[in-house]
Amino acid sequence: TDFASLNLAAPIAAALAQEGYVTPTPIQAQAIPHVMEGRDLLGIAQTGTGKTAAFALPILHRLALNPAPTPRHSARVLVLAPTRELASQIAESFRTYGAQLRLHVGTVFGGVPINRQIRQMERGADVLVATPGRLIDLIEQRAITLSKVEVLVLDEADQMLDLGFIHALKRIVPLLPAERQTLFFSATMPTAIAELASRYLTDPAKVAI
Ligand code: AMP
Repeated sequence: TDFASLNLAAPIAAALAQEGYVTPTPIQAQAIPHVMEGRDLLGIAQTGTGKTAAFALPILHRLALNPAPTPRHSARVLVLAPTRELASQIAESFRTYGAQLRLHVGTVFGGVPINRQIRQMERGADVLVATPGRLIDLIEQRAITLSKVEVLVLDEADQMLDLGFIHALKRIVPLLPAERQTLFFSATMPTAIAELASRYLTDPAKVAI
């Protein structure tokens, strides 16, 4: 099986061809059709398996098929990640795969001055990749509202718990519209993660590799 059989929107297929991607990895082949159908997803996968494209490609497909203005002070897609390094990589992947769409991919993470991030969010983001602590800071400063989010991704959920972001997550997720698509990725599935997943996901498709 190759990417053509997944029927991704033409601008995304073209970006993949440009990158030299021909064959989906196993997590991509399993996850992408479910996400394209709009289902919630529980993915058990490690870094290096191609999991970023497994969620980024079908999300970009959705944005390509449903154009809408970039919501000021908000985002259509929110990706939460545990570290600034991972957040930067995820944002870069969205920019690469979405190169032929007119998208604003924003990033917010701690350890850098907040003012530029406040200004960045004035025009909003189609895709916002954030670490939980800095996102809370920006919400408290009224620089970000989550009322326009259509898709939530929690990446490396086990790492987020290990780094102490559980309270931040429990504050952030209730601020999102209840009607949304949620994709939840973790390398491991201890009880605390399974509980979080069952709280945030509705009838999820499950993929493990
Ligand atoms: P990830 O697991 O998301 O960190 O991805 C691992 C690496 O694999 C990244 O450098 C991607 O650019 C690359 N990659 C992901 N999917 C594919 C694919 N289907 N074909 C070739 N390279 C890929």
